[in-house]
Amino acid sequence: MSDGGKTLRWQSDSPEETESFGAQLAAVKPAADEAAVVIYLRGDLGAGKTTLARGFLGACGIRGTVHSPTYTLVESYEAGADTIVHLDLYRLRDASELEALGVRDLARAHHYWLVEWPERGTGRLPPADLIVSLEVGRDSHPITTSAATSVGAGWLARLQQA
Ligand code: ADP
Ligand code: MG
Repeated sequence: MSDGGKTLRWQSDSPEETESFGAQLAAVKPAADEAAVVIYLRGDLGAGKTTLARGFLGACGIRGTVHSPTYTLVESYEAGADTIVHLDLYRLRDASELEALGVRDLARAHHYWLVEWPERGTGRLPPADLIVSLEVGRDSHPITTSAATSVGAGWLARLQQA
């Protein structure tokens, strides 16, 4: 379902489905030729943000176990010419701490950002192209994906066609 192609609502019935949604996002991701491409992953603990990130990373060819960067806050993965940057800002106390992590250098072309708890980094993060909001439902996990830029809108449109 959609409202003019800018929001996609969907129910995930299992971790596998959430992972596969992440893989689908990766399969139709835009080129990051000119700037970093950014996804904010919103939602409470246990909503499935890391599960989705795992699917995205797997579809980008990252093999092996993907751990949430709960303590390191940031983990980068090489995927051919691209770099996938996975952030988990849950433990960030202040957005200014992001500077010390050196992530500013990663906000450039050929980098894809997956950001858990983006609200903790407000003002210090590159803007989102896509905002994925995950919820913990009683039987399933509703996932709402919204485009925040024209790059994101194209991405969402390709996802809906897939
Ligand atoms: P977050 O990163 O948002 O804190 P995780 O992805 O680490 O969440 O964990 C989600 C947990 O919820 C996992 O233990 C997973 O097995 C469980 N789960 C149950 N149903 C789903 C679903 N539909 N999508 C994602 N995770 C689910
Ligand atoms: Mg997580």
